[in-house]
Formats: sequence, C-alpha cells, structure tokens
Amino acid sequence: MFLLSSVSSFSRLSSSHRPAMLAKASSLMASFSCSSPRRMRGQPSIWTNMRKQWFGKKKLYGFGTLIVKPVKVLHGANHLLDLPPSFCNITSMASSLQIELVQCLQDNYAYLLHDIDTGTVGVVDPSEAVPVINALERKNQSLTYILNTHHHYDHTGGNMELKARYGAKVIGSAKDKDRIPGIDIALHDGETWMFAGYQVHVLETPGHTKGHVSFYFPGCKAIFTGDTLFSLSCGKLFEGDPDQMFSSLRKIVSLPDDTDVYCGHEYTMSNAKFALSIEPNNEALQEYAADVARLRSKKLPTIPTTIKKEKQCNPFLRTFSPEIRQKLNIPLAASDAQALGIIRRAKDNF
Ligand SMILES: [Zn+2]
Repeated sequence: MFLLSSVSSFSRLSSSHRPAMLAKASSLMASFSCSSPRRMRGQPSIWTNMRKQWFGKKKLYGFGTLIVKPVKVLHGANHLLDLPPSFCNITSMASSLQIELVQCLQDNYAYLLHDIDTGTVGVVDPSEAVPVINALERKNQSLTYILNTHHHYDHTGGNMELKARYGAKVIGSAKDKDRIPGIDIALHDGETWMFAGYQVHVLETPGHTKGHVSFYFPGCKAIFTGDTLFSLSCGKLFEGDPDQMFSSLRKIVSLPDDTDVYCGHEYTMSNAKFALSIEPNNEALQEYAADVARLRSKKLPTIPTTIKKEKQCNPFLRTFSPEIRQKLNIPLAASDAQALGIIRRAKDNF
C-alpha cells in the first residue's frame, strides 16, 4: 500500500546551539530543538531566550545561512552527500530534550524524543519500525515510549514491532483505546502526562479522526499535531466535521506564537500551491512558499513550522480572509467553521 522510502533520519539543530554546531561541523554532528541547561522543566530556558535574541527565524535565511547550512545538509539525508548512515549523530548540550525527525514511508515523519538527563527515549507516530530502529541503533538507544496522535496505520504501523523489541509503552487517546495497537496508557483531553520530567499536555483535536490528540510540550515550546494541523493545511475530515476541526485548530493556535509545530506529513509543498491559489496576495505566504520550494528542491524537511507562521499563511486558519472568501465564493454570513468546510472541500478537489 505504501512505498517504503529510503531509510533516513535527520535532526534539527536548535538555533541556540548553532555556535556549538560550527565547532562540531567537521564531525557532522547535529543537535536539537529543545534544550535548557539545568532548568526548571516547564519554564522558558536561557537557551530559548538566547535563541530569540540572536537568531530570529528571519535571520536563519540571511545572516544565519552559513551557520545553518550544516544542519540543513543533515536534514537532507544521506543520499545527498553520499554519507554513511552513521553520520547523523546527536551530541550533547548540558540537559536537553532532543527532537529528531525520522522519515518514514513516503511522506510521513516520526519524531524521536531523547532526554539526555535520563536517557529516556520516545517516538511519536512510528508509521513503521525499521527507520526508527535504525535511528535508535545509530545512537545505541533503547525506546521507552511510543506516542500516537491517532489510530491510522501510517501513524501506528510500527507500534507492535517496537513494543516487542524494546518493551516500550504505548500512549494514546482513551477514545481510541480499541483502535491503537498495543496501547498501555490511555489519556483524556486536558490530562498531563510526564515524559522524563517534561509535562506533556494532551489536547483532544478531533476532526480528522474522532480520537485524534495532539501532544503539547510547553517546556519545549513544541506540539505534535499528527494529522490535525499540517503546515499550510489541516487533515481530511474522515471522522469529523468542519465544526470539530475548526475548534481543534483553534485550540492549537491558541498556543504561543513561537511554539514549534511537528506534524505527521511532509505535505507543505503541495499545500502551498493550494494556499497560493486562494490567497495569492498574502505576502507572508508568498515568502514562506518560496522558502518551502527552496527546501524541498534540496529534499529538506519543512517541519517544524511555527504557530505564528501558520496563522499568517495557513488558509484553514484564515477563514476571515476577504481574499479567500471571495476566491471561493464563501458567503459573508458563513461562519468560520462553515468557511473551513468550504476550503476543505476546495482542497479535496484541487
Ligand atoms: Zn491520519
């Protein structure tokens, strides 16, 4: 059903660590997106503040290019550089949660979470086991937890093999406890679960499926949105309606603007084409679409995105846009949820 893509994994370098990365560039080491030296977990870290001060996202494509370059190359997977599979090591800051993208199937992302302090490792939405096992073996790590945003096979396909191999516990929505393979810990909306000392807020985000949840790590300013919020789109409404999806998206975008969004698929390029077709004069979207095209031309991931960027560019979060409403003939009287339904149908037929 799905093509098995070439196995590759890559890490994202926190902007706060880019100076360190420069020093380590020769050994092609990468670092990560959430770290905080000896911090109170759940509190903003000094590194986060430094990141904000020194490396605004805008600068990453300008001044920061040279610094970012090695990271982006790392993102690009082995075949771009003809590097051995072991090149993608992750190294260390004092105390941090590393988030590593693992490419699965054709366009899925699983995410490895590694807490350096405790050695705890989790994976979000392992579509398949092999790429995750390879990423773990490269770092000589085991797996403690499997987090599933929803029951679809391309998010849970690796559960049983990973559970059998590592004894990992499977975490998912209580509403989907009969559909998530191997589930051990069933969580409800609003509950907080702890991952190696990090708070994980469970947000029910139905619309794509009834039991879809998103996992929000406030201490890391990161959310895993599965197939609810994509960059520049939202999931198809397989088991829900526009009202549900609208309120799910509202819940997610009420988080701080600088929250990193890790979604389940690399769909951003095609989503950008649709978004531009219905809001061609959105300058933030034009700029982002150009960035996305550049990244994808090098086979680099566009994830994570941010809440801020999505609010500026994602048509499903811009139901108020006069341009979108005019392009799709959405009546003035239509509610935001109704507008979202019309945008969804237009995208389904795009
Ligand atoms: Zn799905």
